[in-house]
Amino acid sequence: MMVLIGTRDSNVKNGNILNEKCPKCHEENTLDFSIYRKYTHLTMIPLFPVGKLVFIKCNHCQERFNYEDLSETSQLKLRNEKSGSPLWMFLGSIILGVFIIFTINNYFLEKDETSILIKNPLKGDVYDLKLSNGFYSSMRIDKVTSDSIFTTRNDFNASLPYDVDDLNKTENYSNKKVYYSRKDITKLYEEDEIIKITRSPEYLNYNN
Ligand SMILES: [Zn+2]
Repeated sequence: MMVLIGTRDSNVKNGNILNEKCPKCHEENTLDFSIYRKYTHLTMIPLFPVGKLVFIKCNHCQERFNYEDLSETSQLKLRNEKSGSPLWMFLGSIILGVFIIFTINNYFLEKDETSILIKNPLKGDVYDLKLSNGFYSSMRIDKVTSDSIFTTRNDFNASLPYDVDDLNKTENYSNKKVYYSRKDITKLYEEDEIIKITRSPEYLNYNN
């Protein structure tokens, strides 16, 4: 996905400056103002507001003015105009925050679940592995006896831990048979070589 970062403006308030004469045509109460909020966005999702822009125009002579052209009283009045940033300008930051919390929470839940499942291996469990060569892969538990665990290794490796899920297909477990003692399996887990355990849903339902 292409990520575009930039800023955009949004009109947050319009009104008329009272008791002020137009610097050009000298008519009173003819100056209209528009306040715009500038905000950053990430691929069109607003992240947070960054600044404010004010436009002033006389509705009599149509001349445009800068904020600095106004009298000090009017400048102050304009500064006090309530033109807060609407909540949607923070949408991206809110989404990002929720996403980070969700990811951290999920990480701990997964870690917690793995520490429980490792103690009770079942046929059909899939163990995600961190290999000594730096790659990631998985193995499927085929059979569990009182002292041994029989597995089939995945034929493929992934370079990132999250990609292992994509490799978890029946046809990828062909012929690499490996068996471990229960002690060896515990050791692999303690040495962080088993990073995640996925139990097949039928067993999870059964446990509930
Ligand atoms: Zn004017």
